[in-house]
Formats: sequence, C-alpha cells, structure tokens
Amino acid sequence: MPIQELPETLVNQIAAGEVVERPASVLKELLENSLDAGATRIEVEVEQGGMRLVRVRDDGSGIPADELPLALARHATSKIATLEDLTCVASLGFRGEALPSMASVSRLAITSRADGADSGSRVTVSGGELTGPEPAAHPRGTTVDVRDLFYNTPARRKFLRTERTELGHLETVFRRLALSRFDVAFQLRNNRRVSASLAAAADQAARERRLRDTLGADFIDNAVHFDYETGGLALSGWLALPTYSRSQTDMQYVFLNGRLIRDKLINHAIRHAYRDVLFHGRHPACVLYLAMDPARVDVNAHPAKVEVRFRDGRLVHDFVFRTLERVLAETRPKAPEQRAATMPARLGGSSPPAQQRMAVDVREELAAYGALHGHAAHGGSHHAPASHAAAALPAASAGTGDDDRHPLGTAIAQVHGVYILAQTDDGLVIVDMHAAHERIVYERLKASFEANGIARQPLLVPVTVEVSPPEADLAERIADDLAELGLALDRVGPGSLAVRELPAVLIGADAAALVRDVLSDTREIGGSQRVRAMTDELLATMACHGSVRAHRRLSLDEMNALLRDMESTPRSDQCNHGRPTWTRLSLAELDRLFLRGQ
Ligand code: ADP
Ligand code: MG
Repeated sequence: MPIQELPETLVNQIAAGEVVERPASVLKELLENSLDAGATRIEVEVEQGGMRLVRVRDDGSGIPADELPLALARHATSKIATLEDLTCVASLGFRGEALPSMASVSRLAITSRADGADSGSRVTVSGGELTGPEPAAHPRGTTVDVRDLFYNTPARRKFLRTERTELGHLETVFRRLALSRFDVAFQLRNNRRVSASLAAAADQAARERRLRDTLGADFIDNAVHFDYETGGLALSGWLALPTYSRSQTDMQYVFLNGRLIRDKLINHAIRHAYRDVLFHGRHPACVLYLAMDPARVDVNAHPAKVEVRFRDGRLVHDFVFRTLERVLAETRPKAPEQRAATMPARLGGSSPPAQQRMAVDVREELAAYGALHGHAAHGGSHHAPASHAAAALPAASAGTGDDDRHPLGTAIAQVHGVYILAQTDDGLVIVDMHAAHERIVYERLKASFEANGIARQPLLVPVTVEVSPPEADLAERIADDLAELGLALDRVGPGSLAVRELPAVLIGADAAALVRDVLSDTREIGGSQRVRAMTDELLATMACHGSVRAHRRLSLDEMNALLRDMESTPRSDQCNHGRPTWTRLSLAELDRLFLRGQ
C-alpha cells in the first residue's frame, strides 16, 4: 500500500480507541467538560447502561453558536493556547479530542446557550456528518447527548458487557467525579429513575454526608478528617482507621487539583504510612485531596489523563507519607471530651452519635470483638466497634500535656487472663493486654532504634547478589546512602554485588532478597524505605515475643501502668497487626443494654 493520509473520521475513530473505551469513559469526558465550564449543577441521564444514551446537562458557561462546530473539530480547545499554557494546565481537559472522538463512534448532539446569548443552538453529528448549528431552546449551559455508542464500529461494540456491568462502570465514574467537587450538585438518572441526587456541599457536615451517600456509612463512621499544608503542598481528606481495612485497594481515592489520579508514588506512600498498623494483605481506605501549583506536575502524560508526572516525585511522596503517618500516629486512647474539643468539624457531622445506637448494636459489637480475637489469624473483614472508632480521632491541636486525665480509666480486674477491665468516668473500658503491650514494646524498640542510630554488623562472609547491570549501576550510585542505613555493599562484577555489612537487627535475614527489594524500590520511588520497613518488621516480631503473654497474672499496678503506657504510645489503638487493642462501653450504652430508664 502506498503511504496516504487517513480520512478525518477514521483518524477520530483511532483517537477514540484511546479515550472512549465504554459508556463510562463518555461520561467521564462529558462530566469533565461540564466542570471545566464552571457548572454548579450537573444532571446525568443514562439508558441501557449508557449504551443507548449518555446525556450530561450543565448550567456552565455554554458554547456560542458559531463555536459549536469547532467544539467537534479535532485538536480544537478553549483551554490552552500556547506551549506555556501546557506546562501549567488548570482545567481537566486540554487536548481537544474528546468530543470529535465520541462523535466519530456515536450519534452525538450538543445543545448549548452561551453566557449572555439570548438563545440557544444545536449541532448534531452522525456518521461523520455535521448538521447545524440551528436554533434550539436551552437555558444557559450545555447538554450533550451521546446515543448508540459504537453503532458504526461493531468490533468495538462487542467488547461492551451487560447493561448491569456498564451501569456499574458509569456509577463508579459518577461517584469519582462527585467526590472531586463538593461544591457542585450532581444528579444521576438511570432509565428515567433518579438513582443519586447530591446537593452542593458547603460545610464539613454536608461533605461527610456526600461521602456517606457515595461510599457508604461504614467508611465515614470509621474515618478521621485531616487537613495539612506546608511548602506549597496541601493534603486533606479522610483516612480510614487501621481497624477498618479492605481486601482490595478499591476504596482509595486520590485527587490532585480536582483530578482523580492513579499514581504509583502516592499509592506507595499510602501503603507505607499504614505499614505498621495494618494486617498483612489488608488495604487501607482513604479519600485524599492533594493540591499544588499546576506547574509542578505534568498532566499530559496519558490520553485519559489519569496518570501524571510530578516534577519532584520524591518530595511529593515524602510529603504524603509523612502527613498520613502523623495522622495515624495519633490513633491512641483519648477521652471523649478531648475528642470533642479537638475535632469541632465532626461535631455537627452526620454520623449518628454513639448514644443513639441501639443496645442490640452494642451486643453485636461485643460479639464481633470476641469473635475477632478468637479467629485473629484470619484478619477477616472487620471494622472497629463504633465507640472505639469514635474514640480514636486524632487530637491534631490538643498537644499531649493532658496527663491528669486518664482516658482508659483505672484497672479493676483481669478477665480470663486475656482482658483488662477498667472503670472510666463515664463507663467501662476493655483492653486486650497482649495486643496492647505488643504495640507498646514495638514503639519503644523503634524509638530506641531511631535515637541510637543503626547498629551495624559486618558479615563474616560477604553475600554475593546477582542483579542486572543497570541495577548494579544503580546500587553503585546509591551505595553511600545505603551504607548510612547500615547496608554496605560493593560492586564486584558487571552484574554482581557483595554485601559486606547489614543492620545488626537484620543479621540472619535474607540479604539477597533485601538488596533486590531495595533496588526495585529505589527505581520506582527514587528512594528506598525497604531497609527501614524490614527493620520495622523485625522489631515487630521481637516485640511480639517480648510482650506479656495471655494468661499471665498481672497486679492492679501492672495493669494501670499498661493503661498509662497505652495513653502515651503512638498508634496504640491497634496492635501491630491492625487489630483493635481496646474498646469502650459508656454508662449510657450499659444502661441501654439493661433497658434502664426506659
Ligand atoms: P477539551 O475538553 O480537551 O478542550 P473537548 O473535545 O472535550 O476538548 O471539548 C472541546 C471544547 O468544547 C472545549 O474546549 C470547550 O470549549 C467546549 N465544551 C465542551 N463541553 C462543554 C460544556 N459542557 N460547556 C462549555 N463548553 C464545552
Ligand atoms: Mg474535554
């Protein structure tokens, strides 16, 4: 075949292969356009899983009649004009290819009335043929209809799944976009029935209501809100308590300047922040909002713009990691009053106050708690009893000077050699003594390790590790940094390394595996936390062996000392495996359990 230029419609259909995979991708592009147009209210209508119709209607700035055909032209956009603009994109779209791509594989209509215009107009495209613009009634804003997706590309239509599945994808997109902008009202109608209606959320309580409506009550009832900013980087959002975890990473939402992103660095930072408080194989849940100068990130790295490139990835990684770790370090026993004083944002929140909970809930929680400890090894899906969760909110501003208060109360007995019972001002606290002590010992080991630096020990016989030549290059380049962490190695061949020295706590560990992990970490995130993480794992094992066993008799003094230690130990709301260490039953809850005063 001779070289020839492809017809425009075919070019657009090829581009559509990248941005339009299924009805949900149509919805994503249309919603992003509405948000870019400054909409405050967006209505979505879908039929037959979006395969028959995806319609998005907004009250944004609209498109002037004479620009309507342009909106459908390839590489035509109102969002950037110069290369300079491309380096600091503040809008969700900027490539000018979504509408022409969708128009090439569907029957598409745009009806719009621009800001200030006194009437609306409409263009339609079908089979590459543009009709209009012609006058059409429309209030300020835009409606885009995408019908019969892939009607002219049967090969692609075959990849569509059942209505149910496609609807699921549409709902996922709707949820993500709804979480990206609390200030915009969203409505979703499926086959003419309203299935979601979200009012604009102006305050914290309303935002948490939206989280409840989109992610379910479990998440928000077990999450803490935080807000932190430094050096031009801001991170806020909700972190699920370690005692509420998931088997998948499906409830991790990360928004960068309002755009949902998927980023290896940030995912790593999240995982790493929870490493100490989560059971192996469990994943944290969170909704995070990261904000920075758009010039510090390249969003033009991926056609669907979900992947981004940070100018300084390492800095962003460390900022996210440290912020989350600090929030999680505050998960330790707090008195209810302290919580109220330090978390004003949640006071008006929509979570039902613990006092309103039914007695039967409390009983179920206790049962669940007992069952959890009986089958701890499974680490099954479980979330903290609500009373416990509520007590674990971080006291970001309260400081720790509040020593005269004892949130965990005074020990009164040991039960079955496993639990400590303590009486508090307003009820009863039950502590799993082994789990709690394990955390305390672990945190102490870590602290002394940090304070005294890393004790290193030379290997009697150096361990040789075979890696690829580029990996050996990398190892050579970062050898000084690794030596500081106690890992000393030399290059002894194009693809061979010799490990001479290890951190003392890691003597006996698999040095080859450690080196390989360190190198792959360094390649991926530009720095290695692997040595530290492995050290922590070892300290955790030591802590487990070094802490009080179940069935050891403790005196009241010993029990009280343990309670006081818990109160001052970071992360002590959960043991080293992410299980809760204590729970609280208030007098009110006890009263309800016995139907007192009713
Ligand atoms: P991009 O969003 O990358 O600019 P699109 O093909 O999605 O490319 O849209 C092309 C242009 O059409 C946009 O730049 C914008 O000017 C206009 N447009 C699309 N949707 C809307 C809308 N809902 N409201 C106002 N203008 C819109
Ligand atoms: Mg767009």
